Amino acid sequence: MSRVYNFSAGPAVLPEEVLKEAADEMLDYRGTGMSVMEMSHRSKAYDTIIKEAEADLRELMNIPDNYKVLFLQGGASQQFAMIPMNLMKNRVADYIVTGQWAKKAYQEACIYGKANKIASSEDQTFSYIPDCSDLPISEDADYVYICENNTIYGTKFKTLPNTKGKPLVADVSSCFLSEPVDVTKYGVIYGGVQKNIGPAGVVIVIIREDLITEDVLPGTPTMLKYKIHADNDSLYNTPPAYGIYICGKVFKWLKKQGGLEAMKAYNEKKAAILYDYLDQSKLFKGTVRKEDRSLMNVPFVTGNEELDAKFVKEAKAAGFENLKGHRTVGGMRASIYNAMPMEGVEKLVEFMKKFEEENA
Ligand SMILES: *Cc1c(COP(=O)(O)O)cnc(C)c1O
Repeated sequence: MSRVYNFSAGPAVLPEEVLKEAADEMLDYRGTGMSVMEMSHRSKAYDTIIKEAEADLRELMNIPDNYKVLFLQGGASQQFAMIPMNLMKNRVADYIVTGQWAKKAYQEACIYGKANKIASSEDQTFSYIPDCSDLPISEDADYVYICENNTIYGTKFKTLPNTKGKPLVADVSSCFLSEPVDVTKYGVIYGGVQKNIGPAGVVIVIIREDLITEDVLPGTPTMLKYKIHADNDSLYNTPPAYGIYICGKVFKWLKKQGGLEAMKAYNEKKAAILYDYLDQSKLFKGTVRKEDRSLMNVPFVTGNEELDAKFVKEAKAAGFENLKGHRTVGGMRASIYNAMPMEGVEKLVEFMKKFEEENA
């Protein structure tokens, strides 16, 4: 068996320990004589799995009791619709557009009401986070929306926007559990898990209880109501059971690493290895304004498309996978999520140095 260093933006690298444990339990989950994949979601064994997953996530993120944790399906993209359907009581919401994912969410919200683009960084290919300290928040806005870490462009909000009292809704798909967050600052925190937590197919929604109501837009399907999932502890219908089981294992792994403070320290150290090299390289350069750099997604270019392609090809041959940048940006992108070991980034930088020497 040989594993590569996988720099994919998502689905992405998972902790090897978790994969091994899942492999060990594949045929017989703890004496049940079956795989978790084959198990009723109403069984005693599964009840323990989902309850422990929620309890561990609550502990990791220090989630207050007045927030519900929902394990849903449909990916982060389904939340682009679910959020306005459930939250747009006045049919008004303010969107801060810092990349493709925020833009898609904004466009989806336009279907349901008056979505206002109150700030954007599209003028400079989304390479920075706009100043959000005093934005023209609409008086009747039901919420203010951000994508906290922009997976494609490699930017991250270091300071949350001043929402002037409106609930903040944040897509944290690509920075989920990468550092501590103050949950009380948000109305809704949500993310697809396939970036930093688990297998595709699960989206986690952490939502303040007062935002979960029967008062949703007319025509909202039952399956797209937060209330139905909250009232049924994410077991209204069959949940993405195996995916949640893997997420649960990742939560335990994170606790073992020392929790989110420890992950933040590790991630900062890990990202610095790559950014420090980029800052002094004569060949490669980062594409993002320094103060807005993501700890998770690091885009970089040589400035020459042919050389970029050569780099991606040679890197792949050397065991560094998925370094090609997003199709809308070009260049390269290294996604260095929680489960990417320090060693992976050190070796990548060694490889980049060698490539730089050879192509000077
Ligand atoms: C990947 C990603 C999405 C889309 O996720 P799906 O689960 O494929 O719908 C949305 N937002 C962000 C920030 C992402 O990184």
